[in-house]
Amino acid sequence: MSADGGAPIRVPVALGPRSYDVVVGSGLLADAGALLRPLLARPRAVVITDAEVATHHLPSLRQGLDAAGFRLDEVEVPTGEGSKSFGELERVLERLIELEIERDDAVIALGGGVVGDLAGLAASLLRRGVPFVQVPTTLLAQVDSSVGGKTAINSRHGKNLVGAFYQPRLVLADVDVLATLPRRELLAGYAEVVKYGLLGDADFVDWLEANGPRLLAGDTAAQTHAVVTSCRAKAAIVAADERERGDRALLNLGHTFAHALEAEAGYGDRLLHGEAVAIGMVMAFELSSRLGLCPLQDTVRVRRHLAAVGLPTNAREAGLDGFDTVALLAHMRQDKKVRDGRLTFVLAHGIGRAFLTREVDVASVAEMLDRELAA
Ligand code: NAD
Repeated sequence: MSADGGAPIRVPVALGPRSYDVVVGSGLLADAGALLRPLLARPRAVVITDAEVATHHLPSLRQGLDAAGFRLDEVEVPTGEGSKSFGELERVLERLIELEIERDDAVIALGGGVVGDLAGLAASLLRRGVPFVQVPTTLLAQVDSSVGGKTAINSRHGKNLVGAFYQPRLVLADVDVLATLPRRELLAGYAEVVKYGLLGDADFVDWLEANGPRLLAGDTAAQTHAVVTSCRAKAAIVAADERERGDRALLNLGHTFAHALEAEAGYGDRLLHGEAVAIGMVMAFELSSRLGLCPLQDTVRVRRHLAAVGLPTNAREAGLDGFDTVALLAHMRQDKKVRDGRLTFVLAHGIGRAFLTREVDVASVAEMLDRELAA
């Protein structure tokens, strides 16, 4: 039973033999042992976390696992994107081997997308794969990075270039942990929540316009609804296209622009991923409207909602000056989604109606960027 009286909600991710549940609710850390025990041959696990998350939430998770008789070790990595590195991956793997983690034991990621991506890749490599569990602690990780099996570290040539598809056995999304998340991180995760509505669920956008502020103020029922709706949307897309051969790329709504902005901002506190996604989604809708594909009032609505909750909708609002179209286009050409020199864009016929296209000419993109960067 969750702390607010509601039972946790299970969102299945249907991937045949790699299927698993995302469990969403309040008070789940306390039940972690009971939820995880049936999935493992023996109660043995290592928790990988970062220093910040460990302070707030490791004691509750430890208690929850202790209650089910788990033998537990912990590996702490430095907070921040820098941990998605070859050096940290090596250190974590060597530590897991020293701790004698065997084929049937679990690696548990307790943290945001950084910890999840690093721990997932380590779990995929250790002894050619050990059971992996995600306990996401940022809103972004609960609605996006913990679900779907993408894991990665960064190379000096770019972000997420070294990775694997490796599905977890279980995802525990306990919305109570969001209470300690800094407001700016919560908002950045909210941009990814809005993304699911914009790409395929207009009713969810209506709901977010009415309930977004309540969610961001810490209402756990609203948070649970948003995480469940987002995970259902992601689960459906991932189940249909696990390895991103087609429609999974819809999840990149706003991301082609976002990645270019992040690359230009130098990845870090200057511009968070979710903030870049908010600006990128506005750009995707602007481009769609300029190409005559999407009613202008939908684009206005997207911009208005993101601004209303406090997300940036253009570079200037994010405090980024001096970005230019040529530099952003150059980053976009480096994007992993380029095939045969053509960029794939996610555009929209309206709110909730995103689609993939490779038919966008660079001149239209450049025109839109010129306007948005001057805004
Ligand atoms: P993050 O993991 O860096 O966490 C953000 C900050 O919040 C960190 O300082 C962390 O210590 C702190 N934090 C986390 N949970 C907290 C809590 N409950 N209370 C207080 N502080 C807390 O950032 P993120 O936004 O969660 O993840 C970003 C990463 O996710 C990027 O590396 C990105 O590439 C990756 N990502 C992966 C996927 C995927 O499908 N695998 C999808 C999207 C993003």
